[in-house]
Amino acid sequence: MTERAYLDWNASAPLRPEARAAMVAALDQIGNPMSVHGEGRTARQLVERARGEVAALVGAEADSVTFTSGATEANALALSPAWSRAAGDPPFARLLVSAIEHPSVLSGGGFSPDRVSVIPVDGQGVVDLEALRRLLAGEPAMVSVMLANNETGVLQPVSEVAELVHEAGGLLHIDAVQAPGRISIDFSNLAVDLLTLSSHKIGGPKGAGALLRRSGLHLAEPPIRGGGQERGLRAGTENVAAIAGFGAAASEIPGTLAEESRHTAQLRDGLEAGLRAITPDVVVFGDRVLRLPNTTAFTHPSLKAETAVIGFDLAGVAVSSGSACSSGKVQGSHVLAAMGVEPALARGAIRVSTGPATTEDHIERFLSAWTKLSESLLKGRRFIAA
Ligand code: PMP
Repeated sequence: MTERAYLDWNASAPLRPEARAAMVAALDQIGNPMSVHGEGRTARQLVERARGEVAALVGAEADSVTFTSGATEANALALSPAWSRAAGDPPFARLLVSAIEHPSVLSGGGFSPDRVSVIPVDGQGVVDLEALRRLLAGEPAMVSVMLANNETGVLQPVSEVAELVHEAGGLLHIDAVQAPGRISIDFSNLAVDLLTLSSHKIGGPKGAGALLRRSGLHLAEPPIRGGGQERGLRAGTENVAAIAGFGAAASEIPGTLAEESRHTAQLRDGLEAGLRAITPDVVVFGDRVLRLPNTTAFTHPSLKAETAVIGFDLAGVAVSSGSACSSGKVQGSHVLAAMGVEPALARGAIRVSTGPATTEDHIERFLSAWTKLSESLLKGRRFIAA
């Protein structure tokens, strides 16, 4: 069987060999990182080493990192009314989230639903700064705006958002899950207060993530309390192997970022040129604004994404319809709806996302599957895999 073309890196990236090696080594460490004996200290060293590696990925200090079970949990930890700049400050009474956030942010975390407002985006999927300015008038708010959208790859004006939020006395959280390895991130320059990362999007294992916080931020009531791990912010014995794998993956990225983003941008440009040559009326979402170099979200009038994804799969190509987290339920993408995309057009939305191991052959394979699929699906004929 020919090699499959895995083009769904935004859903999960393949495990990097360095991450696998670090995990295998860590699995044999018997100690609990909270124990004071030698075995415990060895396990602790693995966790602390990874903390430094994850912090370095985004130019942050090691002690700003809290390890969690993934980005979903990091987002839940971030979205608490109880974060404050100084102990004793009143809790935040409201939360503003952009309309294109991951469901783990849209759910509002610890805020009651009637205290959550949605910041609209424009037709290209960029957050509306004027609307944000209006929403910020009134009581200080916690705000959550992602750095790069997982479905379209569209980048958000996070520095401008930070300025507005801080001027209004608010606190800013960004979900930066899709950015590492694709664009550079500098936690100190971004001027954000809280930042979420996920291990499996960067070639680490699934089930590990981190919340980074600016120094001086307090959380009055951490949701998970117990043995005081993670400086009291997230109790529970650390998943040492997953954290070690996360750290090892993170440490691979800075040295290869420039090359990897050039590589994926080149593949993306070829892919989009190919798509337009085969089907000139294809629509690429967010193509007029800054996007991640590895992501293409496209549609075609009269295409049904669920059928197309199966057709691609039969042809040995893995892509997704909308985000992996919401596929399975046949329901339109909230991201495209927020961008004002007609439901009939949004129904055909396919996401192709690549990574360092993606090759030109994979793109060719995708394009040849699209040639056959567009001929059959768009004319209502049955797709027969080659
Ligand atoms: N935020 C974004 C932008 C994501 O793409 C994802 C994964 N689909 C998550 C959060 C959740 O990450 P995790 O799988 O680590 O919980």
